[in-house]
Amino acid sequence: MKCAKCDEKAIIKIPYANIALCKIHFSEWLEHRFERIIKKYHMLDGIERVGVAVSGGKDSTTLLHLMYKLSKIYGFELVGINIDLGIDMGKAYSTKSSEFAVKNFEMLGVKYKVIRIKDEYGFTIDEAKKKIKRPVCSTCGLVKRYTLNDIAEREGLDAIATGHNLNDMAQFVLSGYFSGDVLDLSRLKPVSQPEKGYKVKKIKPLFLIYEKEVLTYAIINRIPFLYDSCPHTFRVGGATQDKIRRKLEELEDEIPGFMMMLVQNFVNKIQGPLEKEYVKEEDISRCKICGRPTSKGREICSFCAARISMGVLNEAR
Ligand code: SF4
Ligand code: ZN
Ligand code: ZN
Repeated sequence: MKCAKCDEKAIIKIPYANIALCKIHFSEWLEHRFERIIKKYHMLDGIERVGVAVSGGKDSTTLLHLMYKLSKIYGFELVGINIDLGIDMGKAYSTKSSEFAVKNFEMLGVKYKVIRIKDEYGFTIDEAKKKIKRPVCSTCGLVKRYTLNDIAEREGLDAIATGHNLNDMAQFVLSGYFSGDVLDLSRLKPVSQPEKGYKVKKIKPLFLIYEKEVLTYAIINRIPFLYDSCPHTFRVGGATQDKIRRKLEELEDEIPGFMMMLVQNFVNKIQGPLEKEYVKEEDISRCKICGRPTSKGREICSFCAARISMGVLNEAR
């Protein structure tokens, strides 16, 4: 199979675009596509300082490299962020994850921050799993959201980019339909305006790029990344989530472009009306412990409540 643009051997077939490309032309094609998505969804309009959340996996490291290239063209400032969540489970997952993130930050010469939640907030995700009754990924999500908002405030960031790819988005959409979770669906967007009380917007620049394309780009551009997945993965939703993802991949094989249509149509036509219907403008209160925004009427935010359950904060403080 030959590249559609030169005489070299093609290394990837892109069925939904009906082309096959060599290493060089695939990289060019993906970088161009990445830039077009950012422009089309106005992800970086008016943005001067962008944080990229890097876990060390293929998606976030690739996102960092693609954002780095764009920062050289458009002149925005990039800050790499890695959160060491304290996930070990005998596999030193968080330690390795931080090592890969830092390797990429230093390779590109990007300014960065590594936040160790044990040092910063007094507990690890592994400890939270044992002590807090909610599912570990839900606590972890809360910790990541809080930490990212916090670092964005401290660093004066205008936006934070995360590495969700098209397969992740398709899985969120289908799972949301499946469980009828309209509130989650109404908040599922590639560009989220700042949460009330914050200034930072959240963007997902890879949301229309297939996992296979991200992986291919990472490999051919020799981006160092951690292959291991978090040892807690698949505890949320367990086998059902796993099956939804596999079935989506099977559908993609049978109907090229299926996931792209599913996500694009959701984002362009369905999410907006859902948001109008289900997301209500709400006033906020300030957490009496950390001073960060929380839902109206709450004295303590859910993050500080989690810290109290972990015994690392005194309620009276
Ligand atoms: Fe956190 Fe769950 Fe993701 Fe692991 S799989 S990093 S515990 S959200
Ligand atoms: Zn070529
Ligand atoms: Zn708080």
